[in-house]
Amino acid sequence: MEKLFELRNLKKYYPILGGVMRRPVNTVKAVDKIDLDIYRGECLGLVGESGCGKTTTGKAIIRLHDPTEGNIFYHYRQDGKAERVDIASMPPSEMKRRGIRKELQMVFQDPTSSLDPRMLVKNIIAEPIRLYQQMNARELEHRVIELLNTVGLTKDHLLRYPHEFSGGQRQRIAVARAIATDPDFIVMDEPTSALDVSVQAQILNLLKTLQERLNLTYLFVTHHLLVVKYISHRIAVMYLGKIVETAKSDRIFRYRAHPYTQALLSAIPAPDVEHKPERIVLTGDVPSPINPPSGCRFHPRCPFALEICQQQEPQLLAFSGDQDHLVACHRQNEMHQLVHDKYGKR
Ligand code: SF4
Repeated sequence: MEKLFELRNLKKYYPILGGVMRRPVNTVKAVDKIDLDIYRGECLGLVGESGCGKTTTGKAIIRLHDPTEGNIFYHYRQDGKAERVDIASMPPSEMKRRGIRKELQMVFQDPTSSLDPRMLVKNIIAEPIRLYQQMNARELEHRVIELLNTVGLTKDHLLRYPHEFSGGQRQRIAVARAIATDPDFIVMDEPTSALDVSVQAQILNLLKTLQERLNLTYLFVTHHLLVVKYISHRIAVMYLGKIVETAKSDRIFRYRAHPYTQALLSAIPAPDVEHKPERIVLTGDVPSPINPPSGCRFHPRCPFALEICQQQEPQLLAFSGDQDHLVACHRQNEMHQLVHDKYGKR
């Protein structure tokens, strides 16, 4: 598989300002030294509880937020040539000059707030095209209609405002705007969670079809595990600013090894309630990202924590010799047995 991104030691900290002078009084460690590879053409699901750093990671990759430290190596193609560049600290003007800015897009959770209510649909979709391509008015309108058709809308929608559409249609408009520049990569930030259940499946199917047709790469941020199972090729699990497990989607559902992943997946409703394994209920709340626990950040809530877990941070290492399945846990090799003994067969 061809890599599209390599994140190395990526950090995003936010200062908390206080006092009359609004000076930094503390720091939120939203994303804290993560390593992650994203492959061209895949959908990588990024899951975890609210506030664990999923959206911040996505925004840092596409430079909507500037990373605090670390590298974002982007393998991009231009004029038939492939190049690997670190975009973590690249000035926006340089990203635009190299044609990188237009390759990185985002679809936000709530289309009601992400679309300007004063703009016609025609202009919402045309805006990013105007920034990066030279077209006359006729060509531009033709391209906008083509994009509307691609997301299941028509030219009859051109001269309407966002409030005239349903939630699902508004998200289609947001998707049309995101694909307007023919991007490589789109961060999908919970794109179905603000929608009615009845239209969630339609939007998911649209995103899946577009990904294959346009050879897009997605980072799909969600806390909805059935959604991620449906759409993702691989899954990365985040906890308190750290990646704790990554693997192919089917493998993580069958052989998850990190106790946090075990707890997350045990919460999925099962059709066969009688034979569903016992749910793993975690005790305590997620600690504050201002002052995260030492060693393994999960140790205050982990039923299997040892002394070493408080002292040493576990690294992401291959699980059972599988280089595509990485787990950050000191006890990863005995975890299946430990979970089986405590909670029964999974
Ligand atoms: Fe639990 Fe220790 Fe593994 Fe962390 S490293 S998940 S505390 S067993």
